[in-house]
Amino acid sequence: AEPRLVVVRATPISPRLTLLVIRDITERERVEQMRRDFVANTSHELKTPVGAVTLLAEAIESAADDPPQVRIFASRLTAEANRLALLTSRIMNLSRLQSSDELTEERDVSVDEVVAAALDTHAIQAGSAGVDVVRGGTRGLWVRGDPQVLSEAVGNLVANAIAYSPQGSSVGVGVKSVDGVVEIAVTDRGIGIAEGDQDRVFERFYRADPARARRTGGSGLGLSIVKHAVQRHGGEVRLWSRPGRGSTFTIRLPEIAPPADQADPKRGRR
Ligand code: ADP
Repeated sequence: AEPRLVVVRATPISPRLTLLVIRDITERERVEQMRRDFVANTSHELKTPVGAVTLLAEAIESAADDPPQVRIFASRLTAEANRLALLTSRIMNLSRLQSSDELTEERDVSVDEVVAAALDTHAIQAGSAGVDVVRGGTRGLWVRGDPQVLSEAVGNLVANAIAYSPQGSSVGVGVKSVDGVVEIAVTDRGIGIAEGDQDRVFERFYRADPARARRTGGSGLGLSIVKHAVQRHGGEVRLWSRPGRGSTFTIRLPEIAPPADQADPKRGRR
């Protein structure tokens, strides 16, 4: 796009010479446009669950003397309210990651702890989906950043891998160090992602198969949170996938040396 330049100040210096102060506002306009889009599609996505909550609340009111009906509506109301809560918390996370705010915490982070926290959070989901999550690879690697943001990123990949996999299959979470980069790879043998969708799945609210994603309770924000979280840490996310075969999402982060008090040769790499 053409750069947008504005004159901030014009100071005549001599009859034939004027000093102009010019500012390039291209980047500022781009950020502003992104913000407007974000607000627009966020409001659109919130309309559905908010509408459902309102309708169900009204239904409960008018079914007051029919207790079995009230129970049915009430449990659907709870489900919609939970969905709404998840969606709003993800919207807030994403908007925080997209803003220029500092990360809330920045310290040396053990990759083992990041992965363990991510697996913990989704253990129940894995159990009820009948999917086995297997952690493999190197132990004792370290990165720098916000442990909570990083665990959420890995957790979102694990949640998707489980959600888009058949019952009885397994999901692998492998960690390794490659030329100063820590790679955390989440592999599933699920439905896979068509080539044409592979870039787009990282866009907010994009779903390759909207009907299926709704059934899995998806918000369409998981992968965009992953992308922004990892970029905030100076890393990147890569995707390999074949429809019908499965997918591997790889988070790549700059590796740091273990803190002095953690450098235990016996714990080292396997
Ligand atoms: P959602 O909440 O819908 O899962 P995400 O941003 O996490 O949102 O993912 C966006 C879309 O990418 C999903 O709706 C799905 O179509 C696709 N997707 C993500 N992870 C996987 C996976 N492991 N296997 C197949 N499709 C996936």
